Amino acid sequence: MADPQVLVAGAGPAGLTAALMLARAGIAVRVLERHTEPFEDPRAATIHPPTMEMLFESGVTADLLAEGIRAPVWQFRGREEGVVAEFDLSILADATPFPFRLQCEQHKLCRILLRHLEAFAHAEVLWGVTVADAAQDADGVTVTTSEGDLHRAAYLLGADGGRSVVRKSQSIAFEGFTYPERFLVVTTPRDMAAKGYAISSYVSDPVTWCALFKVPGKAPPGLWRIVFPTDPEAPEAELLDRVAAARRLATLIPDPEGYEVVHTNLYAVHQRVAANFRKGRVLLAGDAAHVNNPLGGMGMNFGVHDAILAAERIAAVLAGGDDDLLDRYDRQRRKVAEAFLQAMTIANKKTLEEKDPAARLARLDELRATAADPAKARAHLLKTSMIEGVRAAAAIP
Ligand SMILES: Cc1cc2nc3c(=O)[nH]c(=O)nc-3n(C[C@H](O)[C@H](O)[C@H](O)COP(=O)(O)OP(=O)(O)OC[C@H]3O[C@@H](n4cnc5c(N)ncnc54)[C@H](O)[C@@H]3O)c2cc1C
Repeated sequence: MADPQVLVAGAGPAGLTAALMLARAGIAVRVLERHTEPFEDPRAATIHPPTMEMLFESGVTADLLAEGIRAPVWQFRGREEGVVAEFDLSILADATPFPFRLQCEQHKLCRILLRHLEAFAHAEVLWGVTVADAAQDADGVTVTTSEGDLHRAAYLLGADGGRSVVRKSQSIAFEGFTYPERFLVVTTPRDMAAKGYAISSYVSDPVTWCALFKVPGKAPPGLWRIVFPTDPEAPEAELLDRVAAARRLATLIPDPEGYEVVHTNLYAVHQRVAANFRKGRVLLAGDAAHVNNPLGGMGMNFGVHDAILAAERIAAVLAGGDDDLLDRYDRQRRKVAEAFLQAMTIANKKTLEEKDPAARLARLDELRATAADPAKARAHLLKTSMIEGVRAAAAIP
């Protein structure tokens, strides 16, 4: 392929979505990915209604629906109290054609995007290529790889994750904080639905809060993943030990048979937003632009939304559109990253872990009242399903 019009750093959900949307717009695009094949780390698995809407026309949503598990209802629980509130997305049927969460692993979304991308001769993914630096001038951007190659294009989209080399190459600050505790994700084949848990459930507790969700896994009946906070002082090997993880699970949800644990992983959790999502010919999308805790399942969705808008704007500017379209991308996405993505995920964690007994009971009462009142439940669902944030972004001039 001759020089592409756009380079994308990173073949994660954000990078591949952007590449597909650019290719569909007739733009020559090259993705540079340091891994040698699609990465299968168990991470995001919840797809919200606006993401299914945005990916519908490309055919990606149909493939996701074929592989995913629909979750119209999610629960909020107290460890002692049991079910506190149930929220049913079906009441949003007039607001979205997809009134449910779809549980489908991130790596499956990536494989679906890759399959669709293969249909375009003017799109390519170069595997095993690590972006080391990027420099821009008046006419374009030059990317230097660790392998010593140079790639040149009119625009570069940094979708290279939380530690983005592209972001650092442009000296864009990544402001925010990192929680002292890491999150432990425990995967078990035990069917938590048989114990009354919804496919997506949050369990508040001042000490051992957790979030549970079902994923399709390799075959039915699927797997359950449970996310816990951990003691910052605890050694990593102890936290990752599967026998200890099974005990941790049994403490939360007693089971005479105990638990089989098939996987454990540990994540550092950050809340950060880049100071700019656009600097000249370089744009940022996905985790390169913002990172947040996984409670609410929003990070990957938000990155896909960034990618779709960034691709649309870059295509418009390449077709002769006003350069301000790219600044508007920054204004829109950065504003909602701060006002919705950061604010909501920080609040979700605070609600789950609230230690003050009076504040905790007040919050549980508020959630009960929200679920019981159809107007309040609808407002809550519009927010938590990311519909409100998408509408707010569209309204930013
Ligand atoms: C435990 C956990 C659970 C989560 N659950 C959810 C959820 O339910 N819902 C949700 O929406 N989000 C969730 N998230 C967040 C979600 O996983 C991320 O937001 C998502 O992966 C971001 O996608 P991305 O494409 O921006 O970045 P990434 O997925 O990180 O992809 C970046 C890509 O860039 C590549 N790359 C990095 N550096 C370079 C380089 N220098 N050169 C070339 N390539 C490079 C990487 O190899 C990678 O393939 C979760 C995260 C965690 C940790």
